[in-house]
Amino acid sequence: MTSTDIKPADHDTALTSVNPATGEVIGTHPIADEDAVRAAVAKARAAATTWGALSYDERRTHLLRWSSRLVADSDEFCQLIHAENGKPVDDSFLELMLALEHIAWAAKNAKKILSPKKVSPGAFMSNFAARIEQRPLGVVGVIGPWNYPVYTPNGSIAYALAAGNTVVFKPSEYSTSIGNFLAAAFAKANPELPEGVFSTVNGYGATGAALVKAGVDKIAFTGSTATGKRIMAAAADTLTPVLLECGGKDAVIVAGDADVKAAADAVAWGATANSGQTCAGVERVYVDRSVRDEFVAEVKKILEKVAPGSGDDAAYGPMTMPSQIDIVRRHIEDALKKGGTAVLGGVDSVKAPFIEPVVLVDVDESSEAVQEETFGPTLTIRTVNGVDEAVELANDSKYGLSSAVFSKKNGLDIARRLRVGATSVNSVLAFAAIPGLPFGGVGDSGIGRIHGEPGLREFTRPHSIAVQRFAIPGMALLSYSRTDSTMKLLRRLVPFLHGRHK
Ligand code: NAD
Repeated sequence: MTSTDIKPADHDTALTSVNPATGEVIGTHPIADEDAVRAAVAKARAAATTWGALSYDERRTHLLRWSSRLVADSDEFCQLIHAENGKPVDDSFLELMLALEHIAWAAKNAKKILSPKKVSPGAFMSNFAARIEQRPLGVVGVIGPWNYPVYTPNGSIAYALAAGNTVVFKPSEYSTSIGNFLAAAFAKANPELPEGVFSTVNGYGATGAALVKAGVDKIAFTGSTATGKRIMAAAADTLTPVLLECGGKDAVIVAGDADVKAAADAVAWGATANSGQTCAGVERVYVDRSVRDEFVAEVKKILEKVAPGSGDDAAYGPMTMPSQIDIVRRHIEDALKKGGTAVLGGVDSVKAPFIEPVVLVDVDESSEAVQEETFGPTLTIRTVNGVDEAVELANDSKYGLSSAVFSKKNGLDIARRLRVGATSVNSVLAFAAIPGLPFGGVGDSGIGRIHGEPGLREFTRPHSIAVQRFAIPGMALLSYSRTDSTMKLLRRLVPFLHGRHK
């Protein structure tokens, strides 16, 4: 049986999770209906009173205990990630490692970033003390994808928790057991905390939709742009704020002065690792004509030796979501039909549930392989005449998640011209491994940021407090007792303060 033959056992009440490489059943989870989702949110609301009242130091302790539990259980966890998601065990470990880095960063930095700050009251309000205090939102609903089933939702979960919120997490239907393992580890590490600090609700899209409507204080969604738009529309009913981490079509620019071998090495990995199922994976390359032949040959040489599989020596695993396989095939077909050439692989590389690396060159820019997110181990390479053309084509996309630039001298300058949320220079995907750097896109790639300082602020609301320290006689601006002499003084002061700029 191939993974495309697998159907859930009972779509209404239970979700059966399977190994995408073998079809073996991993686990069965009851599906949370609207009532169950509301009950989970109510429990999280009650737990928010306790969790939100803890100090940053106390929450840090709980979060770091969770990390240590995950480390202690990492063998079991990585085997589960491998089995349910398909990625190799080593890649599972790397994903867990990155998630742990983020948990630690959020836990250790929340106090510094979110503690109350004094601000200047300004000349006219100098009798006031002004401060901003960051309050947790309450309950955050996190809806996750399957491609990085730990790292990706954790970018919302760990930061929301560190900021003092409780979390109800709806893992992807393709990584439900993994999501539940993550939450169970938190509870196991922190038995003294009330239930509901970090819980899961399981199911398909309907369960996610129920979470959006369940009265949470924010929805943090990671997944496709199409679902992100549906969630934003549904959230509008209750003005529930949304953080949307959606799809991408990331471009890499290889300039004439690039280290071509290093660029090829990074691109080959960035395009095919995790079967290309990476939101910020390499999908398009714009390479300068002067180094094009060398670059293409080098990428081909590397990827010829790269093969998917489910064994220990596999470079990457199967496609996790069966329906994506047809999309990848369609993109390859469309690219070839529109004049592109496959220098490695082709339509025959699709051997469901696996797809071997495919390198397409000179693909028409209007083809689906260039315009739409492929989310497979494929890559388009287009030759350009210099950096200006490369930047123009890279930016000509409805998406704007991230990007990479290879140039010995001008990497930073080129990076600054790209309309994206993040760029790696002389590397790929590096920003995602640096917890202090925010991550998120523009355009169809989403709204808001996870990770880093903005990623903590996303899960708080600023509370501004102005405290009158003393009254200034005759300067009662916020009162009907304001006098004419106050107005005369203001009419002299305002031109002095604001009217002298030429
Ligand atoms: P998806 O949109 O199909 O599903 C994501 C989640 O949304 C799942 O949990 C699903 O059950 C849920 N869902 C589906 N319909 C819903 C609805 N109407 N209301 C609420 N929830 C609903 O995406 P996917 O296939 O799981 O993930 C792949 C996509 O995720 C790709 O487009 C990829 O680029 C993107 N992604 C983005 C990032 C990022 O950080 N920007 C990271 C990883 C993946």
